[in-house]
Amino acid sequence: MTRLYSMRTAIYPGSFDPITNGHLDVLQRATKLFDRVVVAVAKSESKHPLFTLEERAQMVGRAIRHLPNVEADSFEGLLVAYVERRSAQAVVRGLRAVSDFEFEFQLALMNRKLNERIETIFMMPKDTYTFLSSRIVKEIAQLGGDVSAFVPAHVRAALVAKFGSGPA
Ligand code: ADP
Repeated sequence: MTRLYSMRTAIYPGSFDPITNGHLDVLQRATKLFDRVVVAVAKSESKHPLFTLEERAQMVGRAIRHLPNVEADSFEGLLVAYVERRSAQAVVRGLRAVSDFEFEFQLALMNRKLNERIETIFMMPKDTYTFLSSRIVKEIAQLGGDVSAFVPAHVRAALVAKFGSGPA
């Protein structure tokens, strides 16, 4: 019996304010499991992001240029509704430490309540990225620290443009 192969798509959602090497590490791992991964930048208005939705999506777009089966997009509203619109099967989230677990677990189970069909996959980054977060990168950049080991070069440039290159 012949079975038609259906393309497996995952959504990697987040604020990406801005995208870091930790995000990219998780993303690269996810590309090994799925035919296509969509990095979906959430509006996240309540988090008062440093960068606009357009700026964040643009930085993601540039960071993933070299990855053939990855796409950058942005969305507003319910994640599960977006996952359906994109005909995706799964949501990818990164787990850095136990501290991430409680919130991520609650989010995954709530999304399952809202849509039984969608699975959440947790992926762990390389250990050197477990301490990395967008929040910490912004703090270092604001204080004039060097973030070049933590983010792609164009993201570093965008941070310098926001904060200047020296201490505030
Ligand atoms: P959100 O506002 O949805 O938490 P983030 O952009 O902060 O958005 O994070 C998006 C996802 O990436 C989350 O699942 C988060 O746990 C994960 N993540 C963030 N930083 C890292 C990192 N350094 N290593 C692995 N996963 C990470």
